[in-house]
Amino acid sequence: MTTTNASLLWFRRDLRLFDNTALMEAAAAGGRLFAVFIFDRAILQHLPADDARLPFIHHAVAELKAGLQARGGDLLILHDEAASAIPALATALGCQRVYANRDYEPYARQRDAAVAASLERQGAELVLCKDQVVFECSQLLTGQGKPYTVFTPYMRAWRKAFHPQLATPLGEPAPAQWQPAPAAHRALPPLAALGFPASSITPAAKPGREAGLQLLQRFARKLPHYKTLRDYPGEPGVSGLSVHLRFGTVSVREAMSLALSQQNEGADCWLNELIWREFYQQLLWHFPEAATQSFKPEYRQLQFTGLDSWFDAWCDGRTGYPIVDAAMRQLNQTGYMHNRLRMIVASFLVKDLLIDWRRGEAYFAAKLMDFDLAANNGGWQWAASTGCDAQPYFRIFNPVTQSEKFDPEGRFIRRYLPELACLDNKAIHAPWQAKTLPPGFVLGQNYPEPIVDHAVQRQQALALFGKQD
Ligand code: FAD
Repeated sequence: MTTTNASLLWFRRDLRLFDNTALMEAAAAGGRLFAVFIFDRAILQHLPADDARLPFIHHAVAELKAGLQARGGDLLILHDEAASAIPALATALGCQRVYANRDYEPYARQRDAAVAASLERQGAELVLCKDQVVFECSQLLTGQGKPYTVFTPYMRAWRKAFHPQLATPLGEPAPAQWQPAPAAHRALPPLAALGFPASSITPAAKPGREAGLQLLQRFARKLPHYKTLRDYPGEPGVSGLSVHLRFGTVSVREAMSLALSQQNEGADCWLNELIWREFYQQLLWHFPEAATQSFKPEYRQLQFTGLDSWFDAWCDGRTGYPIVDAAMRQLNQTGYMHNRLRMIVASFLVKDLLIDWRRGEAYFAAKLMDFDLAANNGGWQWAASTGCDAQPYFRIFNPVTQSEKFDPEGRFIRRYLPELACLDNKAIHAPWQAKTLPPGFVLGQNYPEPIVDHAVQRQQALALFGKQD
């Protein structure tokens, strides 16, 4: 073991210098401080080449590097397997401690356990800090000492245990301890060198910390109306901050501070959404097996009968149901989908197309810029009725009435399906039901006929799920 006092700060999904718990802890420990970001080959190898997250991360890492250089330090950058690279780097730099913020996903837990074991063997330690949630792991348990599996009691317990200090941003330490990067790890490789040439996706959210903070500020003005507008994908009612919360370019404490700074129903409702985020994080922590199978054991053997061609049509946005197709095109074009639409398309895939929710979950995981295993798995299992706190299987979204209710003038549909712009506000939700269509518009040519009949498929879904009772 080395005798100099030095620590290594390992950035992962916390790409900022302000209000970063691991950074504050590392600085408080004293001594020299190095910082590293790893483009982890173990993660990158599973991503599609046309991935919109890599440009976002790359931009945020470049910002972080510039920020550290301005403070007299630097960001070391590696393209390697984190599990072996971190212990090797700690040895090379003579660091006794590696600081990082805790990640609750199964892969991250395994990786961190491996890193901790290697560091221990070389006389060093991995210090994990709570940063991406207010309450983590087993901090909130039921009266019986069990994890919460239903949102409302969890939310009540969360609010009872919460006090504003828990959401007060931590600030930033003085820059004195920062160390420069050794030449070998100084350069930020271009995206192409990492195996990710330019993405065809045009993201809805601008990358980086500066952009995240601007979005947060702009959303502050919209927050009072959040409760009334949040379900309408054609309205600018939601924050669009999910990708920033995912990669930590905005901290959860910064988001919560905004929610607490206003006394109105919009702010209170938004805080609830941030609590949903924590609910799913603690669920995944307690039930990591739910990442690959139904939370409810009775739904693990469902025999899904949907066709592969239906799945392809769903992915491409050509099911013939305009709200579903517009939503899928939003996802494919921007890497984002509005929450109401995520619920509609997920229900449609499972209950109308009778396709295993895990295929939809995997498609979202490949496309969503804000992809987060806990929220995505929780959202999919909720919609598929297989999750712990899911809607019951007999509550099936009707894609046409959902469309009429939440996109009444077809504003959102017209944005992503310009071929339907000529339809009136009634026909646009279900063109096949229209008594007349505009001259020149031919269903089956200009836009697909519905690939399934909702009424028929609904009965099939009831039979499929009902059999398990
Ligand atoms: P806002 O409405 O402004 O909400 C603020 C923040 O609260 C969000 O940024 C997000 O961090 C959190 N949040 C909001 N709703 C939820 C929720 N239901 N569950 C967990 N956190 C929530 N969210 C993800 O961040 N990543 C995912 O991979 C993801 N997959 C989903 C899959 C399905 C099938 C469903 C139904 C929902 C999924 N969600 C996911 C939750 C939600 O749709 C998104 O968080 C939200 O649409 C992001 O937009 P926003 O930032 O404008 O949200």
